[in-house]
This record gives sequence, C-alpha cells and structure tokens, in this order.
Amino acid sequence: MRVTMIGSGYVGLVSGACFADFGHEVTCVDTDAGKIAALKRGEIPIYEPGLDDLVANNVRAGRLSFTTELSGPVAAADAVFIAVGTPSRRGDGHADLSYVHQAARDVVAAIDGFTVVVTKSTVPVGTGDEVERIMRETRPDADFAVVSNPEFLREGAAIADFKRPDRIVIGTEDDRARKVMEDLYRPLYLNAAPLLFTARRTSELIKYAGNAFLATKITFINEIADLCERVGANVQEVARGIGLDNRIGGKFLHAGPGYGGSCFPKDTLALIKTAQDMESPLRLVETVVAVNDQRKRAMARKVIAACGGSVRGKRIAILGLAFKPNTDDMREAPSLSIVTALLDAGAEIVAYDPEAMASARTLMPEIAYAPDAYSCLDGADALVIVTEWDAFRALDLDRVKATLRHPVVIDLRNIYRSGEMHERGFTYVNVGNA
Ligand code: NAD
Repeated sequence: MRVTMIGSGYVGLVSGACFADFGHEVTCVDTDAGKIAALKRGEIPIYEPGLDDLVANNVRAGRLSFTTELSGPVAAADAVFIAVGTPSRRGDGHADLSYVHQAARDVVAAIDGFTVVVTKSTVPVGTGDEVERIMRETRPDADFAVVSNPEFLREGAAIADFKRPDRIVIGTEDDRARKVMEDLYRPLYLNAAPLLFTARRTSELIKYAGNAFLATKITFINEIADLCERVGANVQEVARGIGLDNRIGGKFLHAGPGYGGSCFPKDTLALIKTAQDMESPLRLVETVVAVNDQRKRAMARKVIAACGGSVRGKRIAILGLAFKPNTDDMREAPSLSIVTALLDAGAEIVAYDPEAMASARTLMPEIAYAPDAYSCLDGADALVIVTEWDAFRALDLDRVKATLRHPVVIDLRNIYRSGEMHERGFTYVNVGNA
C-alpha cells in the first residue's frame, strides 16, 4: 500500500519507517526543509535507538523517501497520516490544533481518488469531526474518510512499541476505511496484535484517558514516596508490594522527580480543558497536574536540604537532562525546572547527558556542560541524578567519591542503594526511602 506521513518528527518518522519495514511504500513529508534535507543525506534528526538502521535499510530498499512537497505523495496515497505536533496552546492549555488543521487543508487539496486520512497526532475528542468539516468545506468533491488512530509508542523504545503494540486503536465507522486500516496493519495483525475498532470520538478519548491514567499512577506513587520519607517506609518496597497485585500492576510505579516529556504534561492539560468545556470536570486529573507541577521545584528543595540548607556559590553536578533515558527529547523535562530553581538559589550548575545536550544548550545556555559523567562531577559540591540513563547506573563509586569535592549524592531516580551509599561514606538522599 502507499502511505504518506505528514510530519516527520518522533511519531511520523518512526511510524513511517516501520510501515516501510512492513513492506508498504512510504513517503515522509515535513514543512521543515532542514529536517528533510538531513533525512535525504541519511542523517536522523532525533535520537531514537535503532532508527538510523531502520531508516537506512528501507531507503535502500526503495520503500521510504522524504520530501517537503506534499501533493504528489498525497495524490498517490491509499492512506495519509497526519502526525504533526499538537502542543499546548500558549495562554490557555488547550491543544493547539493549527498544525493539524493546516495539514488537513493541504491534504484535501491534493488527494486523488478515495483516500483514508488518519489522525495519528494526539487530538482532543471531536477533532476528527472538525478535520472532516474543514476538508469537506475546502473540497466538497473529494472522496475521503477521516479516521482516528492514536499512537502509543514511547520515545526510547519507539520501534519495538510500534511493531509489537499492546493494541492498535482505530476509530472509524466507515467500511472502506476499516479495510484500508486492516491491510496497513496486517503484518501485525497476523501476530495477533489486538486491533480495536471503535467510533472516532471514542478512539480520540482513549488516547487522553490512557495518558491521564498513567500520569495519575506516577503521581500517586510520588505522593506515597513523600509519605514514606515522613514515616520511615521504603517506596520501592511499597511499589513492589502493591504492584504484585494484578489489579494494580507493577509498571509506572517508580517514584521520581515528577513526569515530564512531550506527552503527559500537554495531554493531561488538554484533557482537563476539554472536560471543563463539556461541564464534566476531571477533578482527579486537575489535582494530578497541580501536584506534578509543584513536585519539580520541590526536588530542588531536596537538593538544597541535602547540601546543608544552601547551594549559594556551590557547584552542583547534574547527570541526566532528557525527560527520560534513551531520548534526546527535552520537552517539559524535570531537569529544566530543577536547574532553574537551583540557579535561583545561587548554585553554579554543570550538567552532562549522553544525548540531550545539544537541545539542552539552547534551552539552558546559562549552565556549563561537561563532556562526560566524571568530568561533570569534578570539584562539585553535590551530584544530582535526574535521568536514569544506563550509563549512570553503574558509576565507579570510589571514583565518584574521589572526584566530588563533597560526597553528596541526590538520586532522584533511586538507582543506587541507600545502605551501600551510606556505608561508602556518601551523604545520600533519594526519593521515598527514609
Ligand atoms: P514532533 O514535533 O517531533 O514532530 C512534528 C513534525 O510535524 C515536525 O517535524 C514539524 O515540522 C512537522 N509539521 C508541522 N506542521 C506540518 C505540516 N503542515 N506539514 C508537514 N509537516 C508538518 O512531534 P511528535 O513528538 O512526533 O508528536 C506528533 C504527535 O504525536 C503529537 O500530537 C503528539 O502528542 C503525538 N504523540 C507523540 C508521542 C511521542 O512520544 N513523541 C507519542 C504518542 C503520540
């Protein structure tokens, strides 16, 4: 089948490369000429494990190409996916749908023959109706069906998630569109990946409800972690103790500095706004957002406390800047708030991240960056672990102690053991472990 992907970011590029790997003929389109030029040169504009090989193999096989020109590939496509960004709208927190609406206008002008237009971007419930309205209004003669097919991949594990998903949600009541979507996902379908067909609005809401639930689960364990610190309990053992209950499940029960990233913060906010507009407020999710917002600066206070009550004039080493490991994505990363709060308190910051330093430099030009983990620690008064990259899980602790000026470690991801760190003579603080 012929697939055109509008938007070649984390979702569009991964989905496009995976569809090509299934054997479909895929064109990835983007308005960012620099991104397309890089892709044409064989450079991958984002860091995602395995993506470089996947893209290179499929380009070589003639199944994957890149362009800024949408009309030819859209005219030839059986399915056009809209995978553009839907960031928070400045000022009110609603999802900014301007990129989606623009893509819909561009696409409908170019389609030729029956075409399935699939919204892969995360969009508020009802957006499919609006996209359909815009397209009909722009070109009443066009033959198309608008389908919702939200994406659930996680950055850092995106290819495996796309190829072996827990489920594929497809929102359509159009039989022709259903057939096209079944054919597109057939390589997965044969492996019994659950294809869940729903009405379009239901599909749109599944994505937001899923993200809001996960954000709630993280925030719940974070608050339990705070309580653990007060009462002398261990949050990792509490998490294991409740997670072994099948009704709860052990995933997303890792206490830490609060959720960040390109999805949870904006999607929880957008869902709250939709619910308020519909006069059916989601008070639980509203609280989750408020609790999570306050948590990031609270982590800076934890650092300040571990440093004896003040960081003024102190050098603080930060390991990990990306919002999670195995990505270079800095969107809403907890590191941004923590670093800002420490700078506000008078600290000098030196940071290191294996992949995110290029984007971090543009967002935080005022801090220093080290070329590797140990030089980051050199002469620092404390080490703060913000992102749990594998490379930070097995640091040479003797070397860490010898390199730091003061042996103070604040481990916001609980990757070291409290007892061992104290035995080694560190002042060690983590999350939810008294
Ligand atoms: P991104 O910012 O990495 O990529 C979006 C791309 O779309 C950019 O390259 C941009 O230049 C391009 N674009 C914008 N308007 C365009 C247009 N009219 N024509 C062609 N290209 C255009 O965003 P992303 O992280 O890939 O997210 C895309 C969508 O997928 C969002 O709605 C997001 O919520 C959702 N999503 C993201 C993830 C994730 O982990 N990143 C996971 C699931 C769902």
